[in-house]
Amino acid sequence: MFDLSGKRALVTGSSRGIGKSIAIALAKAGADVLVHGRSNTAKAEAVAEEIRALGGDSRVYAADMAKKQEIEAMFAQIEADYGHIDILVNNAAILSRVPLLEMEYEEWERIVMTNSGGYFLCTKLAAKMMKAGGRIVNISSVSEYQAAPGRVHYCASKGAIKMLTRGAALEFAPLGITVNAVLPGSIHTDFNNDVLSDPTYYQNALNGIPAGRLGKADDIGGAVVFLASKEASFVSGAEIVVDGAMTVK
Ligand code: NAD
Repeated sequence: MFDLSGKRALVTGSSRGIGKSIAIALAKAGADVLVHGRSNTAKAEAVAEEIRALGGDSRVYAADMAKKQEIEAMFAQIEADYGHIDILVNNAAILSRVPLLEMEYEEWERIVMTNSGGYFLCTKLAAKMMKAGGRIVNISSVSEYQAAPGRVHYCASKGAIKMLTRGAALEFAPLGITVNAVLPGSIHTDFNNDVLSDPTYYQNALNGIPAGRLGKADDIGGAVVFLASKEASFVSGAEIVVDGAMTVK
């Protein structure tokens, strides 16, 4: 239904997991999709190859989302290669589990700056090369409003994305660029496989999801495709929660 033909997207952290699934969903809707990884890995190249097999253009770009110079160099390269992009999906993020009283300042900085600093800089640099009709979609998390033990830094980084989304939506509205967020709930990926491979943890996670299953990476792409489409041109500063009703209680 949503046609993204002629649009060029960049999805950060798209070598695996939710980002990879979003990149493929955008390509299936007709977009050309630039794949991003921390380094130019074989995994990222395989995703680009999958996109080309679907008929879209694709290339791999590398940048560490914790490093300003690498992000700036990546956008300069994209601008040199293509001139502009139409869709940015901010997705690359990291998680660790540390109780607040044991958390070093450096760990707070590592998580918050990678997760929210990277989204901020990509948002700014992408918007500078977007035309009217541009779309920015931030993959946030239900953690932006639901606290969890050992994750205060991660939750704070996602709380920052809530206001980055709203502030950018406000400032970019006159430019014809929309900015929205998708908030996944518990999605089984490499991100959380360490804890979900414990049967007790898995069962507890399952018990908290009224839909009766954990999410899959493929559950997220549909919401992103909608927000990237022309049908969503009047949707900005909004959030779509994709969590199997986990947080409505
Ligand atoms: P993942 O770990 O499988 O993928 C994350 C991607 O980001 C990887 O490609 C990784 O290489 C990249 N990345 C991480 N740090 C980077 C850095 N410094 N520089 C460049 N790239 C970097 O995780 P996922 O589950 O696919 O998560 C994707 C997004 O969804 C994240 O923003 C995460 O916060 C969000 N999310 C995930 C869940 C979940 O349950 N899995 C829930 C809510 C929100």
